[in-house]
Amino acid sequence: MILIGTMNLTRTRQTGQFYCPSCACHQEYRLRSRRPFLTLYFIPVVPIGAAELFVHCTACREKWDPTVLEMDQRTHEAIQNDQFRDEALRSAILVVLEDGSICESEITVLQRIAFRLFDRQLNRDELGELCSIAQQNKIVARNYVLTVSRRWNEKQKAEALGAMFLAATAEGKMEAPQMKVMTEMQAILNLTEQEYQQAIEDALRWEHV
Ligand SMILES: [Zn+2]
Repeated sequence: MILIGTMNLTRTRQTGQFYCPSCACHQEYRLRSRRPFLTLYFIPVVPIGAAELFVHCTACREKWDPTVLEMDQRTHEAIQNDQFRDEALRSAILVVLEDGSICESEITVLQRIAFRLFDRQLNRDELGELCSIAQQNKIVARNYVLTVSRRWNEKQKAEALGAMFLAATAEGKMEAPQMKVMTEMQAILNLTEQEYQQAIEDALRWEHV
C-alpha cells in the first residue's frame, strides 16, 4: 500500500524589525511561508499550492499580511486616526439615536461635530446615509463604543466623549436614555471622574460647536 497525504510546510524566509500595529511599537518579526505539499510515506514530495506568506510578530504572536512591512509608524497612525474619526462620529450619531429619533438641531450639532473631527463640511446626504447605516444595524451606543474604544488612545477617548456629550445635549437638555448612556460612558471608556469632567469642558470650548 502506498501512503499518500498532504501537509503544510512552514519556514522562515526573513527576520527583522517592524512596526507592529498591535503592540504599537517596533518588534522582531518573522516573515514565514506556508505551502501545502503532497506527501509520500510522510515525506513532502510535490508542492500542491502556492506559498502563502505572512508576518508573525514574535512579541504578541499576531499574524499580518506582508504589506505590514511596507508601512511605517506614521502610516499606521494615520490609518488609525482615520478610523477613529469615523468611529467617534458614529458614536455621536448613536447617542442621538438613543431616544429613537433625530431632529433638526441634532443634525446641526452632528454636522459641527463632523467638521471638528474631519476638518471638512459633511453635507446632509452624507450625514443622512451615516445615520441610516447606524440605525439599520441596531447596535446601541454602549455596545458600539465598548468594542471600538479598545483601539482609542486617551486623547481620542476624551475627544469621542466630548462628541457624544455635544450630541446628547443637542436638543438643549438631555433626555433620560441619553443621560443613561452618557453616565455609562465613564466606565466604558475607563475615565476617572476628573478626566470625564475635563473632556466635557474641553468639548464645550470646541470651535464652531
Ligand atoms: Zn506585536
